Amino acid sequence: MSSAACIFCKIIKGEIPSMKLFENDTVFAFLDIGPLSKGHSLVIPKYHGAKLADIPDDQLTDILPTLKKLITATGATDYNILQNNGTIAHQQVHHVHFHMIPKPNETEGLGINWPAT
Ligand code: IMP
Repeated sequence: MSSAACIFCKIIKGEIPSMKLFENDTVFAFLDIGPLSKGHSLVIPKYHGAKLADIPDDQLTDILPTLKKLITATGATDYNILQNNGTIAHQQVHHVHFHMIPKPNETEGLGINWPAT
């Protein structure tokens, strides 16, 4: 299921360019266009749904392993995983997405090293 008007569905289909980091049958991961830190990335289910409770369980199973891949790829040692649901909860894009936001380490820095090992 996808929504013709959804910007993240368009990214999945390649109709809008993105910095893709990973893709499989159920998930898509890419860099956030307005990063809060270097390596700020998003993991989304390919299934279109606005909020987490809208997504079937079998479309969510690869989300956490993909977030782990992004953590490894950025070399982040400290990071936030964030997931907003609904306008009051500050959700701006109404297609479920998980933020992975590295916290910069002043001595080691951050960089994308993809694919993750
Ligand atoms: P939210 O506030 O949790 O909905 O976060 C939406 C995120 O999507 C924000 O961090 C935006 O910077 C990001 N975003 C919006 N449009 C695009 C895009 O076209 N490419 C990549 N990231 C986007």
